Amino acid sequence: MHLDTRRLFSAAAHQLRASEIRELLKLLNRPQMISFAGGLPNPAAFPAEELGDLVKKVVKEHGAEALQYGPTEGYVRLRNAIARGMGEHLSIAAGVDDVLITTGSQQALSLLSTVLVDPGDVVLTASPTYLGAMLTFNSTLARVEGVHTDEHGIEPDALEAKLQELEKGGKKPKFLYLVPTFDNPTGITIPLVRRRRIYEIASRFDLLIIEDDPYGLLRYEGVAVPPIKALDTEDRVVYVGSFSKILAPGFRVAWMTAPPALMSKLVLAKQAQDLCTNTFGQFAVFEAMRENLLFPHIEKIKQLYHRKRDLMLEAVSREFPKELRWNRPEGGLFLWVQLPEKMNALDLLNKAIERNVAFVIGRPFFPDNRGHNTLRMNFSYAGDSDISLGVQRLAEVIRSEMSRDPDDDSHDHVDVF
Ligand code: PMP
Repeated sequence: MHLDTRRLFSAAAHQLRASEIRELLKLLNRPQMISFAGGLPNPAAFPAEELGDLVKKVVKEHGAEALQYGPTEGYVRLRNAIARGMGEHLSIAAGVDDVLITTGSQQALSLLSTVLVDPGDVVLTASPTYLGAMLTFNSTLARVEGVHTDEHGIEPDALEAKLQELEKGGKKPKFLYLVPTFDNPTGITIPLVRRRRIYEIASRFDLLIIEDDPYGLLRYEGVAVPPIKALDTEDRVVYVGSFSKILAPGFRVAWMTAPPALMSKLVLAKQAQDLCTNTFGQFAVFEAMRENLLFPHIEKIKQLYHRKRDLMLEAVSREFPKELRWNRPEGGLFLWVQLPEKMNALDLLNKAIERNVAFVIGRPFFPDNRGHNTLRMNFSYAGDSDISLGVQRLAEVIRSEMSRDPDDDSHDHVDVF
């Protein structure tokens, strides 16, 4: 008799379901496919040649340490460089002890969930919010509740109302999770005035904020807005940063800074998860910073993505029907599109994939499953000419869907999930 392992699953494992995005990504390997779906950096943005030299140097000069286990907190010289970098580039005051290296910012979110969330605890997010964060919070059986979000991000009045409502029911959320700058999926940046209000409300309700900021340094126009952590005078903001989008995600090197008492628990939780982050990757990232490769490189990425964002904006302005709405993100990797209310992004995606163009539907990013007529388009990954061609194909599919009789359901339905 074969063992039925499903019988052994934990309550948390029963909650784990393949996300629509994950299933979708499998379909995107067709050679003709133009994909605006993933959130991937462009491989042209990896400084492969410089990194080749640098990696050799790490093996030659620091092999004994770089190929060894390292401290759970991370490589001390990298932590130091990050602490200094946060001061210089983000106006965040931090010392070496305030920096914990993590295996991607995804691990930072996972550690925070492990340390803070008991099953049934309420966690607040924007609506929509980063799907990967929601999956992590769900994996520790949190109750993720979205707060109403407009074109400037999470709405302070809605946040306050939500906190009051929870308080009346005797509930206190464990934290508020935000991607305040060039959000995934919407590309939205919360303006400074609103950041101050959110912080003031968090202070009044004694709420912890998790600020996830993998895109903050990728600004293509406009004026930089300080992170919420830079406004934090009460130790109530955890800041999460990552080298994935500014250097290369393959290193899996990211960091977080948290209040001291929380920090020591996070270190213990990390020890249980993976002992330490990939030491070799940490050494490589540190060398990239020490040799002054990182920031000139970020400037190059910004040029590349700025051009791609403009190409996508030009293409959608030229091609998309006027009934659609989209934003103009000042940085990051994503454009957020709203179809007319009667349209369904999933139906559109099925048709689009037949025409070899893909995007991500918006609905999975909403904690409450709204957003049937929304979608996310990534502009960093596709080649320049594919951006125009892909948008043209997509616009044709949209026009044909718009002209379709909504009561006529006899059209072919291709199931992609
Ligand atoms: N947070 C956000 C908002 C993201 O968009 C991503 C990656 N798409 C991550 C965290 C995870 O990034 P990483 O683990 O590579 O640092």
